[in-house]
Amino acid sequence: MAMENEPMPYLTRDELIQRLRASGLRVTQQRLGVFDALVALGRHATPEEVAEHLRRDFPTISLNTVYDTLETLATAGLIRRADVMAGPLRYDPNTEPHHHLVCRLCGDQVDVDCAGDEAPCLEPSDDHGFVVERAEVTFFGICPACQQRGHAAPARRP
Ligand SMILES: [Zn+2]
Ligand SMILES: [Zn+2]
Repeated sequence: MAMENEPMPYLTRDELIQRLRASGLRVTQQRLGVFDALVALGRHATPEEVAEHLRRDFPTISLNTVYDTLETLATAGLIRRADVMAGPLRYDPNTEPHHHLVCRLCGDQVDVDCAGDEAPCLEPSDDHGFVVERAEVTFFGICPACQQRGHAAPARRP
């Protein structure tokens, strides 16, 4: 994977602090820590995964607090709720327009860049009068890890 060499599509610490203030939110160690944990994970993550990552620096933080903080950050637009229709609720540190690959077996979600840089990324064949702001494609399939576990297509019904 060449991902480490690509620029991070996440807010920097300075941008985060500016955006928190612009949203009327106090800059707290907890908010910075939750954001940093999500960015460090570098992918869509559940509140549980963020909490687990945070326990090194915030050993007493509760899952509820992590969840509430993620919701606050998402409502302010500093992260996104990953509205990919698979698996548990995850949060996305990437607020740039992008697409997703989703494993239909384990629910793993991977960001994919848009082909172009301009939102909304794709034009609908008929916009029905809508002003389109963003477009996201979800590619469903089977991730490499699941393929290695012998789950290559064709799908078998349980
Ligand atoms: Zn998988
Ligand atoms: Zn994403």
